Amino acid sequence: MIKIGILNLQGAVSEHLDMTLKAIDKLDKKNEITVIGVRYADEVSECDGLIISGGESTVIGKLIKERQIDKAIKEKKIPIFGTCAGMVILSKKTDYDQDILEIMDIEVSRNSFGRQRNSFENEIKIFGDSYSGVFIRAPSVSKILNENNELEILSELDNNIIAVKQGNNIAMSFHPELTNDTRLHEYYLSEILKLNKSNRD
Ligand code: GLN
Repeated sequence: MIKIGILNLQGAVSEHLDMTLKAIDKLDKKNEITVIGVRYADEVSECDGLIISGGESTVIGKLIKERQIDKAIKEKKIPIFGTCAGMVILSKKTDYDQDILEIMDIEVSRNSFGRQRNSFENEIKIFGDSYSGVFIRAPSVSKILNENNELEILSELDNNIIAVKQGNNIAMSFHPELTNDTRLHEYYLSEILKLNKSNRD
């Protein structure tokens, strides 16, 4: 059984849990994938994938470090899907002094689209399809730090990079978990399934 953890430290955790459950259902993979909330390093180590939600990246980052969850993630190279604050956490550099995982070769501007009252919903394009992008004090990628490291830009909005993939990690500026559209969660789960299949073969 493949286990997906939703990092339950702070932020839009239950929404990700619901969306992941729905996505598992849509993919008809209930017999292959389970999802649970995880709060401590030993729980994280048992996961084959980890979702880091939106919320306050300073709080999430501090708890990740305090609980040594960063070590668990790096030791096992757990594929992460980070949304909003999750993108900040995945980055190597931000414009704020905070604890981050420093996994993806991106520099992030933390509140790139302004404050809470500047939140908006916009149509975005990923993988050639249209999605509804919910942006709440959203970050964006201000710089790609190492062009050679197979970092793929998945989406841009008005010249802002809002979704990237590097290796098995995916970061998005917006909140797919706050829509009714499970396609991006399905995409992440499909990637994890592929990975686990190729590890078995
Ligand atoms: N900009 C916020 C932060 O870095 C993230 C906002 C969000 O996740 N909605 O903490």
